[in-house]
Formats: sequence, structure tokens, C-alpha cells
Amino acid sequence: MAEPEINNFEKTGVYRFENSNAVFIDSVRVLNRHYSRKRKRKDKTTSRPLNEKEQLANQRHLEARVFMLKAHEDLLGNCDVLESLRNLRGDEAAEEASVEQSFVELGTVWQAPMYEITVNLYYNECLTKESQNGGFSHIQSCESKTVPLFDNLVVNETSNDAEAIFLNNKYILPKESSFFMSDLGKIQNLIPAESDRGFNLIVIDPPWENSSARQKLKYQTLPNRFFLSLPIKQLSHTEGALVALWVTNREKLRAFVENELFPKWGVKYMATMYWLKVKADGSLIGDLDLFHHRPYECLLLGYCYKEAVNCDRYSGLKPIPDNQVFISVPGDYSRKPPIGELLMDYAPGLEPRCAELFSREMLAGWTSWGNEPLHFQASSHFNYL
Ligand code: SAM
Repeated sequence: MAEPEINNFEKTGVYRFENSNAVFIDSVRVLNRHYSRKRKRKDKTTSRPLNEKEQLANQRHLEARVFMLKAHEDLLGNCDVLESLRNLRGDEAAEEASVEQSFVELGTVWQAPMYEITVNLYYNECLTKESQNGGFSHIQSCESKTVPLFDNLVVNETSNDAEAIFLNNKYILPKESSFFMSDLGKIQNLIPAESDRGFNLIVIDPPWENSSARQKLKYQTLPNRFFLSLPIKQLSHTEGALVALWVTNREKLRAFVENELFPKWGVKYMATMYWLKVKADGSLIGDLDLFHHRPYECLLLGYCYKEAVNCDRYSGLKPIPDNQVFISVPGDYSRKPPIGELLMDYAPGLEPRCAELFSREMLAGWTSWGNEPLHFQASSHFNYL
């Protein structure tokens, strides 16, 4: 009787599938037949039992993956979205091509307090004026302001894009937006003098320590304890704030947020949402179950009130959907999808005032704080109208 093919595979490293022209090759096993010693394998295929933290992380993952799989199934079943995803590819490539000014480095030199930025603001004088050919044209007036670039709230209060010039580079500031560029040590200066000028929605994407951000030298990271000093309560509006915090999938970090960070900030945890990352063809950017490289990130949501409040305070608000999944194609390294608008429905206040902390870009109506909020605002990132 012929020997089973699997036994042959153990010896030779070659498996021929029955009634098929496919052959599976274990290269290391094939090469090992040429030596008396054994070659090292690149990937360890031997699995060890998960430790306690890894078991907890795995448990969280198993709970989350159900929602992720359902969301992904919905995407794959939607031809319209898939078709438009494929057409977005050119935009992503163009984004990555441009070169950035390093505001982080500039902010640390001794001349930093002397750097100024000139902001050209465009006001709508009167909305329309009759032109010679009988049509109507749009009239704008321009005002230029030169203000300190660092440790200063730079505001575009107009209802038009403003253009800001710094070191011969042009930056676009969206309507009714502002930025405050500083190190964490100066964030106190962002706290509004009147508490009814505080924020109702605060999105935070901290530079958590992780080997990948450091290895790629994309931005400086900080140990967890630094984030305990963020003045979330003082930044919150008197009506309260919805706080949305991006976290990595590390169990140690999740425990830190739940047990130390949220309690220190005065944030009551309410829900978790997920960002599932896909490629332009709709497939996941990686295996959903790969332990250290999950193709998703988590957003933890909670409410922060200046004074202690009873649960009724939350009940007046639209309930935050737990386990909601956002799907998008990732852009530049660590760049998060713009979920602010989707969260506004759950923020206290009729017209929520919004802030993004550790921001690298600006949004209309928002205040952006971090050591490089102009990072993605260079005019090279925009098409001319
Ligand atoms: N949410 C951003 C996006 O979607 O592009 C990414 C933010 S990234 C995770 C963290 C940001 O924090 C980086 O821009 C980094 O330069 C900034 N950062 C690091 N250390 C800082 C510090 N000490 N003070 C202020 N910002 C800092």
C-alpha cells in the first residue's frame, strides 16, 4: 500500500495534492535535506499558550470580531460603495507624495516664540453684485493679520477658507476653525477663560508609545503617565463633553485607560467603536485574527461633566451606539478617519463646540491642538478650484 502523502511531506517538505496539479512546498524542510544541521525558520510556527493579558485581549477581540465581520460583509455586499472605493485610489497616492514642514522641530528651537504666521482672511462684503453682463458676482474683502505661530490661538472666524503664509509656504485654514500649536506642557493656555466657551466634543489621539511609531520615526511618542495631566475637565463645556479617545489594541493600555486615565479626567465610559481598515478592493488590510497586527483600532467614548451629575443627565442625550464599526481605507501613517461629524449627534449642547487634541489637521468649526496641527494643511494637499 502506498505511503500516505502527509508522511511523505514530513520527510521531503513537498505535498502533492491528489487529483490536482497543485504542490505545496515547505522550503525550509526541502533545504534541510541538504544539510546535517537545521536551518532557522523565519516565522515561529510553534504556538505558546497565551498569558493572562493576552487572554483578556483575545477575549475582547472575540467579542469585537463579530461586529467587524458583519460590517465587512455589509461592505462586500454593496457594489456601489466598492466601485467608488476603487476610484478613490488616485487621491490616496497623491496625498502621500507631498513633503511636510517639520513644525515639531521648529517649535523646539529658541526662536520659536518669534515665529509669526500671516493669515489672509476673506470676508463676504455683500453676497452678490450685479456684473456688466447682467449676471451676479461674489464680492469678498481681504484682511491680513500677522500673529505668533506657536502658543497662540490662530483663528479663522470667517465663513470662507483662509490662507496662511509661513516661511513661503501656504496653508489652508477651513472656515470657522482655529488652531493652537504647542507642546503638551502649554496646553493649559487652551483652557477658555469662560467655561461656557469650553468644548462639547473632544476627540483625542495621543502619541501612545508603540514600537511601530518610534521605529518609523513618524512622531515623538510619550509614556502613558503624561496623558494624566491633560486638563479634560477644564476644557469641557459647562453643559459637559463627549470625549472620544483613540486607543491601540494593547491590553495594558486598555487597562490604564479604564482604571487610571478616564477616572483622572473625570470621564464616565459609555461605549466602544471600531475603525476597520480595508484596501481599495474592499479586502481587510490584514488577517482579522493576527494577534499583534489587528486590522482595526478602537475608539473609547465617555462623558465628562464639570460637576458630578446623576445618570439622568446622560438620559437626555441620544444613546451612543456601542460597537459601531467605521470602515475606511487608511491614509498616511496613523491618520485617523474624520469621525467627528458622526459623533456630534451624541455630544451635549445644541451647537456642539468641538476640539481635537494631538491633531495634525483642521476641520471647519473645530479647534485643533497639538505640536503640528498644520501638518496636513499645506496647500499642496489641496486641489485648486
Ligand atoms: N490624529 C492624528 C491624525 O489623524 O493624523 C494623528 C495624531 S498622532 C497619533 C499624535 C500626534 O501627537 C503627533 O502629531 C505628534 O507630533 C503629537 N505629539 C507628540 N508629542 C507631543 C507633545 N509633547 N505635545 C504635543 N503634541 C505631541
